[in-house]
Amino acid sequence: MGFQVSIEPSQHGFQAESGETILDAALRQGLCLPYGCRDGACGSCRGKVLSGQIDYGRAQPDALSETDRQAGYALFCCAMARSDLRIESRELRSLEDIPVRTLPARVHRLTRAAPDVMIVELKLPANERLQFLAGQYVDVLLREGKRRAFSIANAPHEDGLLQLHVRHMPGGQFTGHVFNTMKERDILRLRGPQGSFFLRPDSSKPMLLVAGGTGFAPIKAIVQQAIAEKCQRPMHVYWGGRGRADLYLLQLAESWPREHAQIRFIPVLSETPAEEHWPGRSGLVHQAAMADHPDLSGYQAYVCGSPAMVAAARRDFLTHCHLPAEEFFADSFDFAADTVAAIDALNPQQSGVGQYE
Ligand SMILES: Cc1cc2nc3c(=O)[nH]c(=O)nc-3n(C[C@H](O)[C@H](O)[C@H](O)COP(=O)(O)OP(=O)(O)OC[C@H]3O[C@@H](n4cnc5c(N)ncnc54)[C@H](O)[C@@H]3O)c2cc1C
Repeated sequence: MGFQVSIEPSQHGFQAESGETILDAALRQGLCLPYGCRDGACGSCRGKVLSGQIDYGRAQPDALSETDRQAGYALFCCAMARSDLRIESRELRSLEDIPVRTLPARVHRLTRAAPDVMIVELKLPANERLQFLAGQYVDVLLREGKRRAFSIANAPHEDGLLQLHVRHMPGGQFTGHVFNTMKERDILRLRGPQGSFFLRPDSSKPMLLVAGGTGFAPIKAIVQQAIAEKCQRPMHVYWGGRGRADLYLLQLAESWPREHAQIRFIPVLSETPAEEHWPGRSGLVHQAAMADHPDLSGYQAYVCGSPAMVAAARRDFLTHCHLPAEEFFADSFDFAADTVAAIDALNPQQSGVGQYE
């Protein structure tokens, strides 16, 4: 049985299922209430119940005293609705509202999804969670102040584990470590969330989502967030790679349109040897999207992948398909500044836009 929850002062409303925490229900429906540990300990999600009945769940006395309860306070990360509710809570409306934190994370599982792609699942300490928007990334902190950016591939409401899709860069310091020496239970240090590539919920425009290689990671998070929010906006997802192996979660992406009528998925390969018998689209992924959508004037575009792919998509979508500039959102998988500086010093020609995927 579900209950209706309305938030003051925003007057936003959402449905909470019985047994589901108020925070989980809000996040699932795209409403970003503040939170920290998600374990009833830190108090970041504390808010007021203005009317209705709740189960306080496992809120810990240090974070929510008996006096707090009597004054109407609850911890929304563990409180559950027992009736329709009116609650008072801050809502995070912009990036500036979300704290950027440094956290340790344990490598929970390493899964080789393709010869050069590792899915790295990370577990934060028991009483910690990272608040982020679908599509954002984290910096992995290395020695000597170096950092490496990786997009979070899961949606915020499924944050028990943080999932990263790491592509092996030949000769790369960190990605080489991931493929050659990293073990489950190793500890990393993360700083995040970072970036302004995230699902814009306040638009009704159809979405064009274009991923190259591991650029699929934040696109996956955005699509899964939109599905969880029951977003009915049409979503046209294009995923490009050189060969089949680059589309390392093809079955997952193919399942989206089968289960959600508003989603289309189009895989595109740029190099298809005859023996691969590729029945799908060939060529550059952003050009396939343009061929199907010559007029993007009424769209939002979310693009993620190599710097060359993102630059080509930006140029061509705006120039040839009339996409409004303010509706183009992208994360470009550039190398970290310390690498670019090193390459610049050795060979200025190599530091610019790389080859398209
Ligand atoms: C916002 C953002 C999000 C990202 N998200 C993802 C993601 O989800 N998944 C993903 O796979 N990638 C992602 N990236 C890219 C990722 O951050 C880089 O691939 C990563 O930083 C490489 O780290 P590394 O230490 O392995 O490589 P580095 O050691 O930094 O080297 C990178 C490359 O440069 C070459 N190189 C290094 N030094 C030199 C030199 N002196 N001369 C010539 N070549 C040199 C290396 O051989 C290697 O190929 C993202 C990037 C950004 C900016």
